[in-house]
Amino acid sequence: MTEIDRADVGLTPEQQALRQAVREFARSEIAPYVDECERAGRYPIELIQKIGQLGYLGAIVPPEYEGAGLDYVSYGIVCEEIARADWVCASAISVQNSLVCSSLVRFGSEEQKHRYLLPLARGEWLSSACLTEPSGGSDLASIETTARRDGEAYVLNGEKVYISHANHASLYFVLASVDRSLRARGICAFLVERDTPGLTTRSMAMHTLRRGDTAQVIFEDVRVPRANLLAGEGEGFKVVGAALDVGRFSVASRAVGQAQACVDAALDYARQRRQFGQELGRFQMVQAMLADMVTSVEAARLLCRRVGQLKDAGVARASQEASMAKLFATDVCMKVAEDAVQIHGGYGLEADNPVGRYFQEAKVLQIGEGSNQLQRALIAEYALGYRGQRR
Ligand SMILES: Cc1cc2nc3c(=O)[nH]c(=O)nc-3n(C[C@H](O)[C@H](O)[C@H](O)COP(=O)(O)OP(=O)(O)OC[C@H]3O[C@@H](n4cnc5c(N)ncnc54)[C@H](O)[C@@H]3O)c2cc1C
Repeated sequence: MTEIDRADVGLTPEQQALRQAVREFARSEIAPYVDECERAGRYPIELIQKIGQLGYLGAIVPPEYEGAGLDYVSYGIVCEEIARADWVCASAISVQNSLVCSSLVRFGSEEQKHRYLLPLARGEWLSSACLTEPSGGSDLASIETTARRDGEAYVLNGEKVYISHANHASLYFVLASVDRSLRARGICAFLVERDTPGLTTRSMAMHTLRRGDTAQVIFEDVRVPRANLLAGEGEGFKVVGAALDVGRFSVASRAVGQAQACVDAALDYARQRRQFGQELGRFQMVQAMLADMVTSVEAARLLCRRVGQLKDAGVARASQEASMAKLFATDVCMKVAEDAVQIHGGYGLEADNPVGRYFQEAKVLQIGEGSNQLQRALIAEYALGYRGQRR
């Protein structure tokens, strides 16, 4: 059996064919351009447009809304294979599908679906999810962005930070509070169009992901029609909770893809680099690192597959399993990236070597969509019975 056959055991023929097609697309159409974009600090918009043309920006949107209608195992495969080539392209797929489209599919009115889901699924629009604020991202119940009722509209005021794809988005999924004293019960989820007066974006300078379009999104008396409220008033936490289940699954799948890229690079280098008259791969201490890398990536992949299978079996919320996959896979990605740099020695930190970049990008996966400290707390609370799985 080849390596690909082993990874595909348990997948349907369609899922196997999808993996091959996405892997080939990512290898030939995305990977060659990533370093160039990073060096220039240029957002890879043309690559993301190609992904849109293939239907992956609407991967989990049902066909009646012009999406690809993929099952969740397949969606995980798309996230994994694209992330093996590029963090930013995989993030665009993940934010759009997991946070924005899944919320529209689950909670959107027919009017909202026709107005927003169709252009998102066709890949004509990009979207951003605006949760994190300067005062914090972990404690979402205390967000400070407010939504004041004014006739048939809400008026939004506040600021969001570290928002991915924000300068290129046509639509923003935004959390705001109608009454901060109610904490979680005061939070609403809104769909806000880019051209709405009072909405501005401002790029943020980052140490990593210079190609990534990370920005502030500022709301100054932004009037949002009542029709753009997702679910009911005060139901934003329910909406974002369901979205984050899917989000954590896609982040975990992306972490597996990126970790696999680290393993690939480390294996190649260990075979080719010679010290003390032999290949690095002949040294037991290097072999120990490689063995742990290969094993942990495989285990992470299986944990992700399990979340996809649960969702495909009709489990509406798989919160605990999604948290476990996110925690494990992103920690694996970080460790594997660290070891890949170690195996490359000084060359691992040279500007033209992607493993140094993977190392920094892995850290973002441990922080975003609920930091790994929060995932540990959630998993323990589910295990202890302090927190029940929502339906
Ligand atoms: C490149 C990048 C892209 C991002 N994209 C987006 C995006 O598109 N949309 C968006 O909304 N956000 C985005 N984020 C923000 C990200 O989701 C937040 O950074 C994250 O949720 C953590 O919030 P924080 O940075 O405010 O840290 P804080 O919440 O201040 O946490 C700081 C530290 O304290 C720990 N901590 C906090 N609370 C607890 C607790 N109860 N128990 C134990 N430890 C705790 C955290 O784990 C963390 O280590 C992005 C961030 C980055 C870096």
